[in-house]
Amino acid sequence: MTKRLGLTVGAWTNDVLAHLGMELPLDIWKVHWGHYYVDPAVKDSIPQWYKFGKLQPDSWDEGLYYGFPPEGSEPVVKVSVSVADQPCST
Ligand SMILES: Cc1cc2nc3c(=O)[nH]c(=O)nc-3n(C[C@H](O)[C@H](O)[C@H](O)COP(=O)(O)OP(=O)(O)OC[C@H]3O[C@@H](n4cnc5c(N)ncnc54)[C@H](O)[C@@H]3O)c2cc1C
Repeated sequence: MTKRLGLTVGAWTNDVLAHLGMELPLDIWKVHWGHYYVDPAVKDSIPQWYKFGKLQPDSWDEGLYYGFPPEGSEPVVKVSVSVADQPCST
């Protein structure tokens, strides 16, 4: 019998712990990103960027957006808005 167990299942932690009759008090927030093809001609000129904005009144928009340049040979950038309006169940 082991004394320690490492679980690395992220948002699904409580789904796995349920098999052991356990649960952690976790709030799960869904946040999304997208990958977008860009013109290959500009692929190497796209920087990593962040836009720090302000929370818009009566809006889900907290104003934080960011993007990453292509990592490999594919002309694909990653873009995300860092926002989740409320925790959800898994
Ligand atoms: C929108 C967004 C953008 C992000 N951008 C970045 C970034 O640019 N750079 C950065 O460093 N970090 C970023 N992060 C954070 C990064 O994604 C996480 O910190 C990282 O993925 C956590 O890794 P993890 O292995 O702990 O969990 P996860 O990546 O969530 O992996 C958990 C894995 O467990 C698997 N799993 C679940 N249940 C089971 C089961 N029963 N059996 C087997 N497998 C199971 C799932 O399928 C999943 O693959 C971002 C996160 C979000 C939400």
